[in-house]
Amino acid sequence: MSEGRTTIVILAVCAALWAGVVLNRSGENLANEVYEATVPTAEVTEFARQQLGELQQRSFNDRIELCGLIAENAAGELVSRTVRVGDTDSCSAAYFDARSLFPRAIYHTHGSFNPRYDSEVPSEVDVAGAVEFGLDGYVATPGGRFWRVNAGNGIAEMVCGESCLPQDPAYDPCSAPAPEQRYTVSSLQARDLIVNYDC
Ligand SMILES: [Zn+2]
Repeated sequence: MSEGRTTIVILAVCAALWAGVVLNRSGENLANEVYEATVPTAEVTEFARQQLGELQQRSFNDRIELCGLIAENAAGELVSRTVRVGDTDSCSAAYFDARSLFPRAIYHTHGSFNPRYDSEVPSEVDVAGAVEFGLDGYVATPGGRFWRVNAGNGIAEMVCGESCLPQDPAYDPCSAPAPEQRYTVSSLQARDLIVNYDC
Protein backbone atom coordinates (compact mmCIF):
# COMPACT_ATOMS: atom_id res chain seq x y z
CA MET A 1 0.00 0.00 0.00
CA SER A 2 2.95 2.32 0.32
CA GLU A 3 3.73 4.68 -2.49
CA GLY A 4 6.53 3.57 -4.74
CA ARG A 5 9.93 5.11 -4.55
CA THR A 6 9.42 6.91 -7.84
CA THR A 7 6.36 8.64 -6.48
CA ILE A 8 8.19 9.63 -3.33
CA VAL A 9 11.00 11.10 -5.37
CA ILE A 10 8.54 12.98 -7.55
CA LEU A 11 6.75 14.33 -4.51
CA ALA A 12 10.06 15.30 -2.99
CA VAL A 13 10.53 17.47 -6.05
CA CYS A 14 7.25 19.19 -5.27
CA ALA A 15 8.39 19.68 -1.70
CA ALA A 16 11.61 21.18 -2.99
CA LEU A 17 9.55 23.59 -5.05
CA TRP A 18 7.81 24.67 -1.90
CA ALA A 19 11.19 25.52 -0.48
CA GLY A 20 11.92 27.45 -3.66
CA VAL A 21 8.82 29.56 -3.17
CA VAL A 22 9.63 30.27 0.44
CA LEU A 23 13.29 30.98 -0.15
CA ASN A 24 12.53 33.10 -3.17
CA ARG A 25 10.08 35.20 -1.23
CA SER A 26 12.40 35.57 1.71
CA GLY A 27 14.95 37.24 -0.54
CA GLU A 28 12.58 39.87 -1.85
CA ASN A 29 12.60 43.51 -1.05
CA LEU A 30 9.78 43.71 1.48
CA ALA A 31 8.91 47.17 0.22
CA ASN A 32 7.33 45.43 -2.76
CA GLU A 33 5.04 43.46 -0.49
CA VAL A 34 2.31 46.05 -0.29
CA TYR A 35 -0.45 43.47 -0.21
CA GLU A 36 -1.34 40.33 1.66
CA ALA A 37 -3.70 37.40 1.30
CA THR A 38 -7.24 38.70 0.86
CA VAL A 39 -9.03 35.94 -1.07
CA PRO A 40 -11.01 33.62 1.23
CA THR A 41 -9.78 30.03 1.49
CA ALA A 42 -13.05 28.73 0.04
CA GLU A 43 -12.33 30.66 -3.17
CA VAL A 44 -8.78 29.32 -3.29
CA THR A 45 -10.21 25.81 -2.92
CA GLU A 46 -12.66 26.33 -5.77
CA PHE A 47 -9.89 27.77 -7.93
CA ALA A 48 -7.68 24.76 -7.19
CA ARG A 49 -10.54 22.44 -8.09
CA GLN A 50 -10.92 24.12 -11.47
CA GLN A 51 -7.19 24.00 -12.17
CA LEU A 52 -6.91 20.34 -11.25
CA GLY A 53 -10.05 19.43 -13.17
CA GLU A 54 -8.48 20.83 -16.31
CA LEU A 55 -5.20 18.95 -15.73
CA GLN A 56 -6.58 15.49 -15.02
CA GLN A 57 -6.95 14.23 -18.59
CA ARG A 58 -3.44 15.28 -19.58
CA SER A 59 -2.14 13.69 -16.41
CA PHE A 60 -3.85 10.39 -17.34
CA ASN A 61 -2.86 10.46 -21.01
CA ASP A 62 0.79 11.31 -20.46
CA ARG A 63 1.06 9.33 -17.19
CA ILE A 64 2.66 12.28 -15.45
CA GLU A 65 2.05 14.30 -12.36
CA LEU A 66 1.44 17.99 -12.86
CA CYS A 67 1.85 20.54 -10.14
CA GLY A 68 1.36 24.23 -9.80
CA LEU A 69 1.19 27.27 -7.62
CA ILE A 70 -1.87 29.34 -6.78
CA ALA A 71 -1.06 32.88 -5.81
CA GLU A 72 -2.69 36.26 -5.41
CA ASN A 73 -1.57 39.20 -7.46
CA ALA A 74 -1.53 42.77 -6.20
CA ALA A 75 -5.12 43.24 -7.39
CA GLY A 76 -6.31 40.41 -5.14
CA GLU A 77 -6.90 38.07 -8.08
CA LEU A 78 -5.96 34.41 -8.05
CA VAL A 79 -3.49 33.26 -10.68
CA SER A 80 -1.82 29.91 -11.24
CA ARG A 81 1.42 28.56 -12.64
CA THR A 82 1.37 24.94 -13.74
CA VAL A 83 4.40 22.81 -14.38
CA ARG A 84 5.22 19.20 -15.03
CA VAL A 85 6.57 17.56 -11.91
CA GLY A 86 10.19 16.64 -12.37
CA ASP A 87 10.86 19.24 -15.03
CA THR A 88 12.88 21.26 -12.58
CA ASP A 89 13.93 23.94 -15.04
CA SER A 90 10.36 24.79 -15.86
CA CYS A 91 9.42 24.57 -12.20
CA SER A 92 12.16 26.95 -11.17
CA ALA A 93 11.25 29.44 -13.87
CA ALA A 94 7.60 29.33 -12.96
CA TYR A 95 8.26 30.02 -9.33
CA PHE A 96 10.78 32.70 -10.12
CA ASP A 97 8.00 34.47 -11.98
CA ALA A 98 6.00 34.44 -8.76
CA ARG A 99 8.17 37.12 -7.17
CA SER A 100 5.44 39.75 -7.25
CA LEU A 101 2.77 37.28 -6.18
CA PHE A 102 1.52 36.11 -2.81
CA PRO A 103 1.60 32.28 -2.73
CA ARG A 104 -1.57 30.68 -1.38
CA ALA A 105 -1.29 26.99 -2.23
CA ILE A 106 0.43 24.26 -4.19
CA TYR A 107 -1.67 21.79 -6.19
CA HIS A 108 -0.80 18.58 -7.95
CA THR A 109 -2.29 15.59 -9.67
CA HIS A 110 -1.39 12.01 -8.81
CA GLY A 111 -0.99 11.01 -12.44
CA SER A 112 -2.73 8.04 -14.00
CA PHE A 113 -4.01 5.01 -12.13
CA ASN A 114 -1.29 2.59 -11.04
CA PRO A 115 -2.25 -0.28 -8.72
CA ARG A 116 1.23 -0.15 -7.16
CA TYR A 117 0.60 3.28 -5.68
CA ASP A 118 -1.80 4.25 -2.90
CA SER A 119 -2.63 7.38 -4.85
CA GLU A 120 -6.20 8.06 -3.72
CA VAL A 121 -4.96 9.84 -0.61
CA PRO A 122 -2.34 12.58 -0.18
CA SER A 123 1.10 11.16 0.58
CA GLU A 124 2.88 11.67 3.86
CA VAL A 125 5.25 13.98 1.97
CA ASP A 126 2.27 16.01 0.73
CA VAL A 127 1.07 16.62 4.29
CA ALA A 128 4.47 17.10 5.93
CA GLY A 129 5.56 19.45 3.14
CA ALA A 130 2.50 21.67 3.47
CA VAL A 131 3.13 22.08 7.18
CA GLU A 132 6.86 22.61 6.81
CA PHE A 133 6.53 25.31 4.17
CA GLY A 134 3.31 26.87 5.45
CA LEU A 135 1.44 26.51 2.16
CA ASP A 136 -1.83 24.63 1.77
CA GLY A 137 -1.85 21.76 -0.70
CA TYR A 138 -4.51 20.50 -3.07
CA VAL A 139 -4.44 17.03 -4.62
CA ALA A 140 -6.39 15.37 -7.44
CA THR A 141 -6.38 11.57 -7.58
CA PRO A 142 -6.83 9.11 -10.47
CA GLY A 143 -10.20 8.16 -8.93
CA GLY A 144 -11.28 11.78 -9.19
CA ARG A 145 -11.05 12.65 -5.51
CA PHE A 146 -10.13 16.18 -4.46
CA TRP A 147 -8.16 16.83 -1.25
CA ARG A 148 -7.12 19.90 0.67
CA VAL A 149 -4.06 19.71 2.91
CA ASN A 150 -4.32 22.36 5.62
CA ALA A 151 -0.85 23.70 6.35
CA GLY A 152 -2.09 25.19 9.61
CA ASN A 153 -3.12 21.97 11.32
CA GLY A 154 -1.52 19.22 9.22
CA ILE A 155 -4.86 17.66 8.34
CA ALA A 156 -5.67 16.46 4.83
CA GLU A 157 -9.41 16.59 4.20
CA MET A 158 -11.29 15.09 1.29
CA VAL A 159 -13.19 18.02 -0.22
CA CYS A 160 -15.13 15.75 -2.55
CA GLY A 161 -15.04 12.07 -3.38
CA GLU A 162 -14.72 9.63 -6.27
CA SER A 163 -15.45 11.15 -9.67
CA CYS A 164 -15.99 14.71 -8.46
CA LEU A 165 -13.03 15.48 -10.72
CA PRO A 166 -12.39 13.64 -14.03
CA GLN A 167 -11.55 9.98 -13.34
CA ASP A 168 -9.00 7.77 -15.08
CA PRO A 169 -11.00 5.04 -16.93
CA ALA A 170 -8.40 2.54 -15.68
CA TYR A 171 -9.12 3.39 -12.04
CA ASP A 172 -9.83 0.37 -9.82
CA PRO A 173 -11.44 1.31 -6.49
CA CYS A 174 -10.48 -2.04 -4.97
CA SER A 175 -6.73 -1.64 -5.38
CA ALA A 176 -6.50 0.01 -1.95
CA PRO A 177 -8.66 0.51 1.17
CA ALA A 178 -11.44 3.06 0.76
CA PRO A 179 -10.04 6.42 1.92
CA GLU A 180 -11.19 7.97 5.17
CA GLN A 181 -12.50 11.53 5.14
CA ARG A 182 -9.31 12.98 6.66
CA TYR A 183 -5.74 12.04 7.39
CA THR A 184 -2.70 13.26 9.27
CA VAL A 185 0.86 12.07 8.67
CA SER A 186 0.46 9.50 11.44
CA SER A 187 -2.87 8.18 10.19
CA LEU A 188 -1.40 7.90 6.70
CA GLN A 189 1.42 5.85 8.22
CA ALA A 190 -1.22 3.65 9.87
CA ARG A 191 -2.97 3.27 6.50
CA ASP A 192 0.30 2.01 5.03
CA LEU A 193 0.14 -0.94 7.41
CA ILE A 194 -3.32 -2.10 6.33
CA VAL A 195 -3.01 -5.48 4.63
CA ASN A 196 -6.55 -6.82 4.57
CA TYR A 197 -9.62 -4.81 3.66
CA ASP A 198 -13.06 -5.28 2.19
CA CYS A 199 -14.05 -3.91 -1.13
ZN1 LIG B 1 0.75 13.87 -3.74
